[in-house]
This record gives sequence, structure tokens and C-alpha cells, in this order.
Amino acid sequence: MATRAKSKETPAALLLAWYDRHRRVLPWRAPKGQVQDPYKVWLSEIMLQQTTVQAVGPYFAKFLKTWPTVAALARAEQDDVLAAWAGLGYYARARNLHKAAKVVADAGGVFPATYDGLRALPGVGDYTAGAIAAIAYDLPYAAMDANAERVIARYAGIEDPLPKSKPAMRAALQALVPQKRAGDFAQALMDLGSAICTPKRPACLSCPWMDGCAARKLGIQEQLPRKGEKAARPLKRGAAFVVRDAAGAVLLVKRPENGLLGGMLQPPLGPWTEDFPSKAEAMKQAPFKAEWKKRVGVVRHGFTHFELEIEVYVADVSAPPNHIHTCHPRPSDAKRSEGKGTQASKSARSQTPGSPSLGLLTQSSPGMTGVFWIEERRLKDAALPTVMRKIVAHGL
Ligand code: SF4
Repeated sequence: MATRAKSKETPAALLLAWYDRHRRVLPWRAPKGQVQDPYKVWLSEIMLQQTTVQAVGPYFAKFLKTWPTVAALARAEQDDVLAAWAGLGYYARARNLHKAAKVVADAGGVFPATYDGLRALPGVGDYTAGAIAAIAYDLPYAAMDANAERVIARYAGIEDPLPKSKPAMRAALQALVPQKRAGDFAQALMDLGSAICTPKRPACLSCPWMDGCAARKLGIQEQLPRKGEKAARPLKRGAAFVVRDAAGAVLLVKRPENGLLGGMLQPPLGPWTEDFPSKAEAMKQAPFKAEWKKRVGVVRHGFTHFELEIEVYVADVSAPPNHIHTCHPRPSDAKRSEGKGTQASKSARSQTPGSPSLGLLTQSSPGMTGVFWIEERRLKDAALPTVMRKIVAHGL
């Protein structure tokens, strides 16, 4: 039987040789030998935080088509950016993306070409700054995403559980980053984690790092990276109110700018507490008096720090009512759960008149903010996060 000769090449050289043969074609990735566009790198790296390559693809294409340059994105209305982002989750990313585009546009439309300059942009943390610095500018920084974490934990045999092991992983990775082709190295590691060093049943026999891999030598590759115990997520419950007028337009309200799902749209909601409100309590939370009927079933959604269950009340009105009150979870309750949800032990209320307007995102009346009647057929274009889209769909 043929034996495999041990390579004297550095881990970086082995990985880059593998990457040259197996690199993925991705919409934000420059063809081999061509210079990366920092705008595309930045946009894709922000989108890829907490999200898969498959999910990001259509969003990346839509953003690039609508806003082909960072200057164009900076000129966009935030509501349009949030609407284009709807469904991708972690909406603070979209708000920061827009803020960062304005910072770059104000600086002449040129992205900072240093780690520190990138790190100073809104929404750019250590990982993202490292990834952009490496991929866009070939600077020797580590880009540590979930794929890279898994590969490094295994290759270096780091057995401490996450998140405690993150500094050790970062140090182990940084020690492997080559001075040349750091961008290719970063992307190669992501590709290796995606194609070979997969969470289950890694294809070690096809891996360029097989000979040096500590976890493989110990036969514990599938056990790494270890994860710390997850805290149980509390369950929050509440009521939502989906109303349609005679022309089929649906009432939506805008959430406060700051906090969970900030600036996005939702149907009117009651506070989120330990249990569902009784029918009588729900009627007090409803945006106006109507023949509210409770839909059978519950809408469920998993947030970062809690689970949410919502009962949906529906009503048809012949004309939009004159007075609407809206309940939003308080921003302070929402801070820890951005991207997936919040709780609201008390609600903030505002009295807001409705209007007979029925167009796409037609604001209720001049001077009034945050109340919209949106045609059902146009809901797909509205800035509705996934959880709110599920609630509306349940009510229609
Ligand atoms: S040898 Fe196996 S476990 Fe180690 S890095 Fe390669 S695929 Fe991952």
C-alpha cells in the first residue's frame, strides 16, 4: 500500500496550494489574480456575519444592483436599506452598514486601507476588520469566522470550550497567516471549513493539513470545537394585531430607531411577557376597537436570547380608524437580543391617527411617523423582519 510522504511545506503553503485548485467561485470574490473591490468585500463580510453563504447570495446581488458603489449606498434612504435587508436578520448590521457607507462617502468614497481605519467604521468588529484587511488589501491579519474557528480548533487541538477558547484560537491562527497572500489564506480557510473540515464527518483524507492536524492524530476531530453550556432561553409571549382595510391594505407600524429590529416595520404588538394576554387584556392592547378574532395557532420564533410565541388577532375594517395606538418593546429591553428578539415588560404608547392612504408605504398623514397601510401585494417589498412577516402571514 502506498504511504503518504510527510510534507515539509508550511501549513500556509499547503493550504494555498489546495485553494489554488479548489477555490469556490463566490459573487463577492474577485477572479483569480484580480484585485478585490473593498466595497464588495466589506458588503459581503457584513452580510456574512451570523449568516450562511447561501442566504447571503441573493441579498448581495440585490444590494450591488441597487447600490453599485459605496457612494450610492450612502445616498440611499435608511428605510430602503432596511427593506432590502429584510429577512437577513440582525438588523443593527443594516443600520451600521448605512452609517459606515456615509462615513466612507464623506471621506471621498475610499475605504480605509488599514486595520485600525476599518475597525473604526460602524459595525466593523475585530473579525470583520481582519477579514477585510486581509481579503481586500492582503494585509497579514487573521479572519476568524465560524468555519475558521472549527478548522483551527481541530488543527491546533484546542480543547477548551468556546467562547473561552477564542483568544487561543486567534493566536494559533495568527501564527499561521503568511506575509504574502494573506487574503487568499483567509478565504482558503473559509473554503476548507466549508468543503472539507465540516462540522460532521470532516473529510480528513482530502485535507491539506491532515499530517499536522492535532485533533485528527487524537481521533477527536468531530468533538472539536467544544462548546460551553448554553443558557436556557426564556419564553416570551404576546399578542399581535393584523388588520386589513376594505382595499386589502395592511396596517404596519415602524419600530423605534434604536434597539431590537430598530427602524423595521411590524403589525401592532402588545408587550411580551411570561404568558399570553387574556382576550380582555388583548383587546386593551389592540390598536383600536374592532371585531378582533383570534387566529387558531401560534407564531413561534427563536431569538438570540429567548423564544417568542405570538397569538394573532385579526380584523377587517371598512375604513382606517381615526385613532391608533401602537405598542413597542422598550429599546432598553431589546439591547441584548438584537437580530432575533426582545422582551417588553412595559409598553411605550403613542397616539397616532390613521389615514385613508392605501399606497405602498404611504405614511398615515403629514407630520405623523410610523404608521403605514401597505397593499398586501407589496408586503414582499416592505421592511418586515422575518418574525413580523410570519405574524402577518398568519393573520392574512
Ligand atoms: S485533518 Fe480533518 S480535522 Fe484536521 S483540519 Fe483537516 S479536515 Fe479538519
